[in-house]
Amino acid sequence: MITAKTLKLSLKSLREFARKRLADAEVIALDARDECPLEIVRHMCSPDKLGIQLLFIPEEFGGFGGGAFDVYCVCEEMARIDLGIATSVLATFLGSDPITVGATPEQKKLWLSRIADEGLLFAYGATEPDAGSDLGALQTTADRVMEDGRVVGYRINGSKQWISNGGIAGAYSVLANTPAGPSWFIVERGAAGFAQGKPEDKHGIRLSNTAALSFTDVYVDADRLVGEVEGQGLLQAQAVFGYTRLMVAAFGLGAGWAALDRAIPYSAKRIQAGSPLSEKQGYTHKLIVPHVVRLEAARAYIEETAERIDAGEGSLNTEGAIAKYMATEAGNAAAEASIQALGGYGYTHEYMVEKISRDVRITVIYEGTSEIMEMTIGRDRWQSHIKTRGGYYHERARACEALDRQHPGAGGGYAALAMHALAEAMEQARAGRLTRHQHILLRMGEWIAWAECAGSLARRAALAAENKLGEKASRRFDAPVLEAMARVFAREAALRVAGESLRWLTGAAENAAETLTALEAAVKLPAIHRAQAGLVADMDLIADALYGRTAKAAGQVA
Ligand SMILES: Cc1cc2nc3c(=O)[nH]c(=O)nc-3n(C[C@H](O)[C@H](O)[C@H](O)COP(=O)(O)OP(=O)(O)OC[C@H]3O[C@@H](n4cnc5c(N)ncnc54)[C@H](O)[C@@H]3O)c2cc1C
Repeated sequence: MITAKTLKLSLKSLREFARKRLADAEVIALDARDECPLEIVRHMCSPDKLGIQLLFIPEEFGGFGGGAFDVYCVCEEMARIDLGIATSVLATFLGSDPITVGATPEQKKLWLSRIADEGLLFAYGATEPDAGSDLGALQTTADRVMEDGRVVGYRINGSKQWISNGGIAGAYSVLANTPAGPSWFIVERGAAGFAQGKPEDKHGIRLSNTAALSFTDVYVDADRLVGEVEGQGLLQAQAVFGYTRLMVAAFGLGAGWAALDRAIPYSAKRIQAGSPLSEKQGYTHKLIVPHVVRLEAARAYIEETAERIDAGEGSLNTEGAIAKYMATEAGNAAAEASIQALGGYGYTHEYMVEKISRDVRITVIYEGTSEIMEMTIGRDRWQSHIKTRGGYYHERARACEALDRQHPGAGGGYAALAMHALAEAMEQARAGRLTRHQHILLRMGEWIAWAECAGSLARRAALAAENKLGEKASRRFDAPVLEAMARVFAREAALRVAGESLRWLTGAAENAAETLTALEAAVKLPAIHRAQAGLVADMDLIADALYGRTAKAAGQVA
């Protein structure tokens, strides 16, 4: 267990290290040279130096036993520094995942202790040239080596693609097909027949090493099969998705904020047409405020999910997918808007937002692409809709209405509008059998993510107002500002769910006129339109807080 105080100290030392060793000029030079700063990565993972990986390792193996909330905080901070280096640290965590969830006690002791004590770097080898989103298509094989009728080892053949730390790790978790199905193996660097490709020349995260791996008759002893039972690989990979996707969600959040935290001070100083850009509403309300709101909605969802995982609710895979989807899409949009916010300067390397925008692009690709997240979310919540005979989101909407009665102003009522509309849209899709169109299912995934985040931000804003947020929760904004953000976000969520469902369900239905009429009445579009009243004033309040203006600026406390 990590206390709030220890976590704060760890984040502080991370920031101090970055200030000394990874100043902008250094990071820009490394990016231009396409160089992974191995010495810095080792420093961050050495137990006697920064020792970040200790956070992920359970206490019994020499680590700090950090929970999902701690990991989110550290991942956000690392992403603010450099997403390539953050990816390197993440790769060790991902590589050790199959061990944490599936290994025997002896295997855990050996490998997790080595990560803690020696700073051993790991890589996670799942993706193959022909098996990316669909890992079930993997072709790497692990054939049994028999002696006296028992399995003494395996011979691995095949290749892996796009492996973070691929060229620099000391040990690799490798997914390969055994006769009983996909299984994880641990392969050490230097094993005969195991080769690493040259670093990939990438669009972004150029400070991280990414390489292909090839295996030609690589022999490993039987005790290198994780868990020593074949065929558990995909289950073991899935067991931690909630957790690992939360980490990438935190990357999107950190990178998005890193860009905005450059655009905001820039716009306060940049004078055009006689006044700072920050005083131009057409600028702030397009390029800054909506992105701050989306990032904070994603943060609310990440924090709630992390607290639930830490409270033992299981791996929460659907919630992990929603967190990743919303935070990484918001991070990308924020970085893109930050380039625009800096004008011509934003388009050059020196001002960093261009690099952040290239870096954050990976977060909507790795650990499951955004489209795979939409599919996962759509499929999982579709099951809930069916099982509850359409009651799932109406029920959640009623909880938001109750919140609204207790805390009018935290956007709960608008979130409820989004959820009622969602329940109705899902019901129309069921009646018309419209999820047979894959596009409908994936769009539904998007509406679900927006509606659920609207609920989360409303709840967090209400908790902030009651001073009941957890000790480790973000306190960048205080309750009045969070409430304004919750209202802005939930209004957009409701409009998005209603408008987009009308568009797509009508577009897919065989009897379009009938579907349109039924849905128009059901999603309560007029109420959602009326809920937009006050939107611009709320955005003004948020902008004032961001720029430290007027009495309302007391809303921003850090
Ligand atoms: C820099 C970098 C680092 C990485 N690090 C690692 C690592 O450490 N370990 C590791 O194992 N992997 C790693 N990956 C691989 C990464 O996880 C995969 O690239 C990702 O899962 C997508 O797989 P793919 O590239 O084969 O694309 P594909 O699966 O071929 O997808 C291509 C496009 O099609 C879409 N798509 C795919 N399937 C469907 C479908 N059923 N329906 C609708 N749309 C679909 C996708 O969303 C995407 O837009 C890394 C990749 C990169 C670029």
